[in-house]
Amino acid sequence: MVRKHEEEVRKEMRLGKYELGRTLGEGNFGKVKFAKDTVSGQPFAVKIIDKSRISHLNFSLQVLASKTKIYMVMECVMGGELFDRIVSKGKLSETEGRKMFQQLIDGISYCHSKGVFHRDLKLENVLLDTNGHIKITDFGLSALPQHFRDDGLLHTTCGSPNYVAPEVLANRGYDGAASDIWSCGVILYVILTGCLPFDDRNLAVLYQKICKGDPPIPRWLSTGARTMVKRMLDPNPVTRITVVNKRETEN
Ligand code: ADP
Repeated sequence: MVRKHEEEVRKEMRLGKYELGRTLGEGNFGKVKFAKDTVSGQPFAVKIIDKSRISHLNFSLQVLASKTKIYMVMECVMGGELFDRIVSKGKLSETEGRKMFQQLIDGISYCHSKGVFHRDLKLENVLLDTNGHIKITDFGLSALPQHFRDDGLLHTTCGSPNYVAPEVLANRGYDGAASDIWSCGVILYVILTGCLPFDDRNLAVLYQKICKGDPPIPRWLSTGARTMVKRMLDPNPVTRITVVNKRETEN
């Protein structure tokens, strides 16, 4: 009996050529585990998604799958979440924050140039590698061109309450690029101040605050940072600051 159990455990720890190890993190859809490619010895991260938890989503991915689970093999990012970094060490200096923010915008603008919109950008989805460079994760709710309706807008309400843009809440269709920029504005605010720009325990009050915009901006922030936060957290998606896509202007 004991032997059989051990065999089952061993089998569970192996996924094709990957040997699964400790849990790196846990999200809404399942666990993320450390994995070693037994052929090359290279480290990876495997996200294990319970199919029962995503049965309501129209999910199609080229990944390893079993009857009950989906396994996504990803690059392993070992520096933890930017969220934990801010929680443990507090806000970043403007110099350091700027570096992180530039990397974030660079990554997001790349995705947008490929027609991919993240739709759940938040501090918890920004990971750090061992060199302190950021890696954007969790594209689970991201939208692809086929998700647009005839009006050219996205219509699915998704994202995390504190980071979601007012036009997403309004439920009348939204531009995925503009709403990602809003969420990046919330991230920038948290990086530089250590607090959320819009917060309330009551969801209805929180949504009112988001739709009104105009968060309290500390006076000690530099003029440049204040202007950037205000331009990104403009409740009107049409006048909100956009990313000038370097790749587009180069072509
Ligand atoms: P979910 O979409 O289910 O909410 P996430 O993709 O956010 O799950 O992953 C949950 C946690 O697992 C992350 O917050 C992070 O701590 C860890 N994690 C996710 N992807 C990686 C990765 N590629 N490398 C290392 N850790 C990761």
